[in-house]
Amino acid sequence: MSSLQPVRGTHDLLPEESRRHRWVEEAAFAAARRYGFGEVMTPIFEFTEVFARTLGETSDVVTKEMYTFADRSGESITLRPEGTAGVARAFISGGLAQSLPLKLFYRGPMFRHERPQKGRLRQFHQVGVELLGVESPLADIEVIALAWRVLSELGLAGKVRLEINTLGDAESREAYRNTLTAYLSQFRLSLSEDSRNRLERNPLRILDSKDEGDKRIVEGAPVMTDSLTPAAREFFQTVTNGLGMLGIPFIINPRLVRGLDYYCHTAFEFTTTSLGAQGTVLAGGRYDELIATMGGPRTPGIGWAAGVERLSMLVDEPPAAVRPVAVIPMGDELAAMHVAERLRRAGQTVEMGFSGNMKKRMARANKANARFAVILGEEEAQRRAVTIRDLDGGSQEEVPLASLEEHLGRLL
Ligand code: ATP
Ligand code: MG
Repeated sequence: MSSLQPVRGTHDLLPEESRRHRWVEEAAFAAARRYGFGEVMTPIFEFTEVFARTLGETSDVVTKEMYTFADRSGESITLRPEGTAGVARAFISGGLAQSLPLKLFYRGPMFRHERPQKGRLRQFHQVGVELLGVESPLADIEVIALAWRVLSELGLAGKVRLEINTLGDAESREAYRNTLTAYLSQFRLSLSEDSRNRLERNPLRILDSKDEGDKRIVEGAPVMTDSLTPAAREFFQTVTNGLGMLGIPFIINPRLVRGLDYYCHTAFEFTTTSLGAQGTVLAGGRYDELIATMGGPRTPGIGWAAGVERLSMLVDEPPAAVRPVAVIPMGDELAAMHVAERLRRAGQTVEMGFSGNMKKRMARANKANARFAVILGEEEAQRRAVTIRDLDGGSQEEVPLASLEEHLGRLL
C-alpha cells in the first residue's frame, strides 16, 4: 500500500485551486438564492438502498461506480454518487410534504469509482438544485433559467451549449420503449454486452451507451419525438417557448437521454467542446416518479447538478482576492505582530512575514499584492508613529500609531 499517496482519483485543493472552486460554488449559490432557493445539507453517506432503488438497478452508477461498504454494525452504506436521491430521502424522512413547493440548493463531494482522467475523478464536487412539488412546465423553465444564469455569471455563456429533449410522460415512454426495442432487437448480436442486458429491462439506457459499436446502431434508432402523446408534446412546447421568451439559446437533441432511471419530460445538458471527452458540465431533468418510487407521497420534481471541477477548469481567473495590508517590522517584531493583530481585529487582511530584511519583506508584500505597507521604523517608534506606504502610487505618510486603524480605514 502506498499509504502516503492520495487515493487514485482524489485530489487536494490547495489555496489557489480552492479559491476557484469556492468562487464557482458561491456564484451558483448566490444565483440560486435570487431564485428563492435555500441550502440543504444531507449526509455524504446513506443506506445503499437509497441509491440502488432510485438510480435504477441497471444504471452504470449503481452497477459499477458506487463506493459501497458494510459499516461496523453490518449496515450496507454507500458514499453518495449524486445529490438527488439524498434530497428525496430527506424530503420523505423529514415529512416535508406540507412545505411544498420546496426549492433546495446543495453542494459538496460526490463519489464514483470511475476511471480517473481529466475532468473525471473518484471524489468530485457538485453544485445542484432541486425544485419539488411543481407539476407545471414553469418549473422546468425556471430551473433551466437558473442554470443559464449561473453559467453566464461564471462567464461561460459563450463556451457552453444547452441541449434539451423530452422523455415524455409514462404513456409516451411506453410507446417509445416498444418501438425502440423492436429496432434494437434486430441488432441484438452486435450490441455490447451491457446493452444486450439492458434490451429488455431498460432499452432507453442504450441510447446513452458510450460503446462505439452501440453508438453506430443508435444513430439509426427511432426518436422519442415520434412517440409523444399530445399532452407530453404540449408540455415540451411550453418549456421551449419559455426558454425562447427568456432569451436562453438551446438546441433540441432528440437523442439526449439521462443516465438515470427516474427522469420524465424535460432532460437537458449544458455541454462544452473545451474539455475533451468530459464535455457535460451541467445536467438535469424532471423526475416526477422518483419520490413515489422511494415510498414517499407522489411529488413531482425537477433539478440539475453541475461538476465543480469541470466548471473550474473552464472559468477564467476568479475576481481578485482582498488585497492585504503588509506590516513590515524594522526592529521590534513582537510590536509589529501587535499592530498586525490590531488591524485584523479592525477587519483588515494583514500579511506579516516572519523573517527577512526590509527588502525581502517588501518583495513579499508585492508578491502578496498588498495595497499598503505599514512600516514600523525604529525612529518613528520613538515618536509613537508608523509609516503607511501606498504600494500602487509609491507615496507615503507618517501617522500616529494610535489612529492607524482609522487612517487605513479611510485609505481603503
Ligand atoms: P458523464 O457522462 O460525464 O459520466 P454523468 O451523466 O455521469 O456524466 P451526472 O450524473 O449527470 O453525470 O452528474 C452531473 C455532472 O457532474 C456532470 O455533468 C459532470 O459535470 C459532473 N460529474 C459527473 N461525474 C463526474 C466525475 N467522475 N468527475 C468529475 N465530475 C463529474
Ligand atoms: Mg458518469
